[in-house]
Amino acid sequence: MALAGTKTFQNYIDGEWVDAAGGETFESTSPADGSTIGAFPKSGPEDVDRAVAASKVAYEEWRLVPAPKRGEILFRFAQLLAQHKDDLTELMTHEMGKVRAEAAGDVQEAIDMAYYMGGEGRRLFGQTTPSELRDKFQMSVRTSVGVVGAITPWNFPIAIPSWKTLPAIVSGNTVVFKPASDTPALGERYVELFTEAGLPKGVLNIVHGGGSDVGQRLVEHPDVPIITFTGSRETGVAVTKAASDGLKHVHLELGGKNAIIVMDDADLELAVDGIVWSAFGTSGQRCTAASRVIVHERVYDELASRIVSRVEQMRLGPGWEDETDIGPVINKSALEKIHSYTEIGKDEGANLLTGGEVASGNGLDKGFYYRPTVFGDVEAGMRIAQEEIFGPTTALIRIRDLDEAIAVSNGVKYGLSSSIFTGDVNRAFRAMRDLDTGITYINAGTIGAEVHLPFGGTKDTGNGHREAGQAALDVFTEWKSIYVDYSGKLQRAQIDTLEEPLP
Ligand code: NAD
Repeated sequence: MALAGTKTFQNYIDGEWVDAAGGETFESTSPADGSTIGAFPKSGPEDVDRAVAASKVAYEEWRLVPAPKRGEILFRFAQLLAQHKDDLTELMTHEMGKVRAEAAGDVQEAIDMAYYMGGEGRRLFGQTTPSELRDKFQMSVRTSVGVVGAITPWNFPIAIPSWKTLPAIVSGNTVVFKPASDTPALGERYVELFTEAGLPKGVLNIVHGGGSDVGQRLVEHPDVPIITFTGSRETGVAVTKAASDGLKHVHLELGGKNAIIVMDDADLELAVDGIVWSAFGTSGQRCTAASRVIVHERVYDELASRIVSRVEQMRLGPGWEDETDIGPVINKSALEKIHSYTEIGKDEGANLLTGGEVASGNGLDKGFYYRPTVFGDVEAGMRIAQEEIFGPTTALIRIRDLDEAIAVSNGVKYGLSSSIFTGDVNRAFRAMRDLDTGITYINAGTIGAEVHLPFGGTKDTGNGHREAGQAALDVFTEWKSIYVDYSGKLQRAQIDTLEEPLP
């Protein structure tokens, strides 16, 4: 197991491992047992400026490297990630806290993305269209943009950096990456392996530190034309405002308040599997977590009792123990926030069916563990049914028919993921059409995205962009339209077309 121990780590700027200019450090500790992972540079604006300057110089060379060659580095990176999958997984169970199977899935997502985006090196398709004039050719091509600022959260500490850095780099951009300060060791390993795959110096830089010291400077830096950010809605709004003077491309992936609908014709056992996985996987700390379950009144009591009995069998513990079902939440303030929502739910009159407390005993006091929590008799307008809790808490809401279910599902400010369990194909297609989210699942929970389809949400979940799939390339490239006139004379579009004789 490659645990970092108490080692001191550095930033990676212009191909060199360096300390923060101010010489300060911060510690990363495990949410599972409080053990120290390592010390990391507490960087500031000066470090960001150095990384951006290096990235800007590297860009002028990197953008000219043929895209298939850039893709080959991504393929090598995919292989390195696969070789190191076990130690990255183990580190993730310690630093971020998720259970081993999910941590391995997080790493696998980055492997998949590296192969997918490596392939883009031989695609990056543009269009050709016929001209309205004779002897004229036209096409559109994707062009790289420059230095990308990538700011990531802690909940997918390998996968999310891959969603951002891989399409950015294969498209010919260079990157300054700021990982979340709760998971710096994983960010560091990610960059180390990517560099080992053969990236030239300056193409990928990592600057550790806090949002206000490092993130903000990156967002405001005049030489960073693209910001790709995943995090909370509040920070996303601040990022948008800070980037507005520079008229930057701002790509945001923000919060969710995702719902699973269970109709009266659903396979209830399958629905319970989907609900438990979606609500309590990653201790509910997924942007796609099912924090609402919208249940037809005819099956409500049966479903509620099956969910509660399943949840009460779940074992809390460190992610690295095989028998653990639910790991810790990320830190003390997350634990406090989650518990505050339990109090809010009780005050609002929801019925606490199980959980609702900080877990203790059997060594759990050393970490940040919260009992999986289910509220029943929740009204759609209650705060626990409207606000993102980002913890192992879900709310059961009773409905009478599909129209009401869809209205309740849509009745939140976020629009990331949605799901319906039903045996009726007509209901399924209506839900696919009418659920106002970027992702909809049929007879599966709210989790399960794959790297080759667009990922992102409507409404306050983002600002209209998508990660993953070919859609991600739109964030990291500009379209250039090119017209080549080989007629040898002036041909005026929209004007000379009228004189075109038909045979
Ligand atoms: P956060 O907003 O607190 O932090 C995200 C990142 O932004 C961190 O690296 C942080 O240091 C940085 N940051 C903070 N303030 C900043 C500022 N002023 N300028 C620039 N950067 C700043 O979010 P978090 O707690 O790390 O993550 C949880 C949130 O992320 C949840 O709301 C969750 O739904 C969301 N999320 C969304 C997706 C998605 O794809 N839609 C995926 C995962 C997580």
